Amino acid sequence: MILLACPMTLPAQEKPEKLFVSPFNFPLLLSGNFGELRANHFHGGVDFKTQGVVGKPVRCIADGYISRVTVTPGGYGQAVYITHDNGYTSVHGHLLKFKSEVEKVVEAYQYEHETFVVDIKFTPEQFPLKQGEVFALAGNEGYSFGPHLHMEIRKTDTGEYIDPLQFYMDKIQDRTAPRASHVMFYPQVGEGVVNGSQQKRSVALKNLKTPVEAWGKIALGIKAYDYMEGTTNNYGVRLVRLFVDSVEVFSSTVDGFLPDENRMINAWTDYEEYKERSNWFMRSQILPGNTWRMLHANEKRGVLTIDEERSYVCRYELEDLYGNRRNYVFTIKGKKQPLEPAYKGRHYMRWNQGNIVQLPGVELEMPKGMLYDNVDLKCRVIADSLNISFDYQLHDKPLPLHGKCPLKMAVRYYPISDMSKYYVVRKHKGRNISAGGQFKDGYMHTVISELGTYSVALDTISPRIIPLNKTQWKNGNIQFKISDTETGIKDYKVYIDGEFVLFKFSSKNSRLSCVHPKRIKRGMTHRMEIIITDHCGNKTREEYQFK
Ligand SMILES: [Zn+2]
Repeated sequence: MILLACPMTLPAQEKPEKLFVSPFNFPLLLSGNFGELRANHFHGGVDFKTQGVVGKPVRCIADGYISRVTVTPGGYGQAVYITHDNGYTSVHGHLLKFKSEVEKVVEAYQYEHETFVVDIKFTPEQFPLKQGEVFALAGNEGYSFGPHLHMEIRKTDTGEYIDPLQFYMDKIQDRTAPRASHVMFYPQVGEGVVNGSQQKRSVALKNLKTPVEAWGKIALGIKAYDYMEGTTNNYGVRLVRLFVDSVEVFSSTVDGFLPDENRMINAWTDYEEYKERSNWFMRSQILPGNTWRMLHANEKRGVLTIDEERSYVCRYELEDLYGNRRNYVFTIKGKKQPLEPAYKGRHYMRWNQGNIVQLPGVELEMPKGMLYDNVDLKCRVIADSLNISFDYQLHDKPLPLHGKCPLKMAVRYYPISDMSKYYVVRKHKGRNISAGGQFKDGYMHTVISELGTYSVALDTISPRIIPLNKTQWKNGNIQFKISDTETGIKDYKVYIDGEFVLFKFSSKNSRLSCVHPKRIKRGMTHRMEIIITDHCGNKTREEYQFK
């Protein structure tokens, strides 16, 4: 089989290396590459190391203008979007600071709207940029655990995410091929068996010298990472090919995806394996509902048919962007084994139609396009008459949905009359995770994007505020630790002497800190008021005096 053409098409005379310059004036090293596996999304760009420090100037990679700026407690923290004249938009995340003209506009917006969270769009005239011009300082803001610059390159018209590394290959060396550790064998439901079992089975590659014995329809998956010289990081694998008896049956190329395709990662990776055991496996099978264009397979969508008692020679070929390649060869021994046909229960759902799950007191609507494969849901009502609602197991394993699906659950018992304090809760591994929701006509209504066990809970507990280092407050260095145990923090406000003061919230360490310490006047007594609200409207209000 011929690999289909790469989606990145550039005019023949334009070398990718000429389109964009480096964002930094020091040697580039990656701590993350394009398409690394994450739950619910691919890593949409590259992570450039910043020599272990924050504050490195970030240069504009091509002529254009700042088209958007966002500030969030998690995610990218502070981000700049630059729309370039060449048809691409770059996104730069975890920034410490914007250039001063932009910083002023953002600050004015924050004070005017009394909010830390910002999402502002700009016109081309406001902040035009020349290639090489410094527009920000790199940082460690938002959901970042070490100084680095997260940089994405997207096609401006379609929003397609593409691999920024292709523009910097002349600046970053890589002679190290990807490495794999395990192969997963997936007997197809009711149609395949591996080593006497119809359950999936993970085998370390080093143990595959002893072939597995299989019969019927099975698919494979592989656990692998890429590596580069000069770093200890591991990266996503750009290209995976599977050959059986020298015929290519499957390939995946992580070089682009549209915003709509981002969640398809849940169908390509083994979502349950990640959720239950933190293992990332890439399937060498295209599930029926997976439409990500970068997967290619034979007419059987990568599924192997083992119907002869002989050896089937499998070869995995892994390759990075630089063409560094590694092969793994092993055999599957065809051996007849007893096979139980699948039993289709009352909640058998088909991927190519809309589905509704109904049990006493619960209803889940899954429109067409939400399931990636047929599934026999293991639904169960766990009834306890003391509970606000029953616990509803919608499936016995975490199962990803492609979008948000409406769920309603009956409330059976009303310990309090204020219905704004009720919320839907997802129960996973002994943890309760809020799934939001609103009460109406005896039911809690919400949307979910993953099957599991859900129930209804109450949040009447107000957020906690812990003041930190009070002796430093007189210098304007005011910090709190804020937290909320059930539904989480929705909003916070800090006023000093009756005036709104900008505080930054960092979701990774729950710290709330004053952004402009120098604006707090010294030598006078200040009255500070802090108000924190959670997602069920519980408020905590504290007052402090400091001098
Ligand atoms: Zn990143």
